[in-house]
Amino acid sequence: MSLTGLPTCTRCDLHHTRQRVVVGSGPARARLMVVGEAPGRTEDEGGEPFTGRSGQLLTRVIFDEVGLTREEYFITNVVKCRPPHNRPPTTLEQSTCRPWLEAQLVTQRPTVLLCVGNTASRAVLGWRAGVTEVHGQVVEVHGARGLATYHPAAVLRGGPNVEAVFRADLATVKELLA
Ligand code: URA
Repeated sequence: MSLTGLPTCTRCDLHHTRQRVVVGSGPARARLMVVGEAPGRTEDEGGEPFTGRSGQLLTRVIFDEVGLTREEYFITNVVKCRPPHNRPPTTLEQSTCRPWLEAQLVTQRPTVLLCVGNTASRAVLGWRAGVTEVHGQVVEVHGARGLATYHPAAVLRGGPNVEAVFRADLATVKELLA
């Protein structure tokens, strides 16, 4: 499926309340693709994923542990429009938005697919258990090596112990890309 209709998508009710469709950012055919849950307020206003406080942490830790800048990987979300009040996207919103993510996976064909948080971990990697249990485990999915870690918002809330796990999972990403 072509991605040309994504910036004007009206497939689900989120289009009534969003300001911008947050398609994703980064080069086509990047070796690393990162998938989060859904845009927040900052992303809805600016149109770029992971630019708010948690996004800035993610950007910094990917640079520290993997050595990549945002210009070097593709980053997007399971759901491309902000749910009101940042509630988690419903299963209907996720399934309605799914063809866009599938099209991005086909276009990108990443070597490594990093899912941050439970929503992406479940939707993309098929894990049932939460990231506390499955983080860092590598699975073959969509022709890539896939793994999940904490959402950076959970890292901000969780303190140094959670950040240490998050950094270790990102060190695994570096190994998989080597
Ligand atoms: N949280 C997400 O999951 N994605 C974003 O783009 C921003 C915050």
